[in-house]
Amino acid sequence: MKTSLSEDAAETESIEKKISDETIKSAIMSVMERRSFVKSQEELTSFVNAEINDNFQPQKIRVLALEIPEIEVRVLTKKSNREKPTDCPSCGKRLKGLHAKNLLNQKVVVGLECLRCNYRGTLKSFAPFRYEFSLRK
Ligand SMILES: [Zn+2]
Repeated sequence: MKTSLSEDAAETESIEKKISDETIKSAIMSVMERRSFVKSQEELTSFVNAEINDNFQPQKIRVLALEIPEIEVRVLTKKSNREKPTDCPSCGKRLKGLHAKNLLNQKVVVGLECLRCNYRGTLKSFAPFRYEFSLRK
């Protein structure tokens, strides 16, 4: 299964690195407790990197933030001419199609959603361009 694969990868990574994923996650939490809302993954990353005095990539920080239940990640999408994704551009989980009936009463795909994170895209607008982070109330 996909999930167990990515968990294995995360475990190997944390053994190799000096700073464990758990440490990064608690740094993310303390940043979020201070700010409660951060408007992009780049901004969150710079706060977290300052906190733990390291230089992690925004994607890494975002993926770890997605694993923290207290943090809500909102994915803002923009128009794209590329092929629509089959896996979530935010967390990598397989996307679920959103269906609707058209005028001929046929079931058509009108969008995509991820059941793990909050990603939601339409067929025209599905490329993530910004991630917002907020503390769940
Ligand atoms: Zn997702």
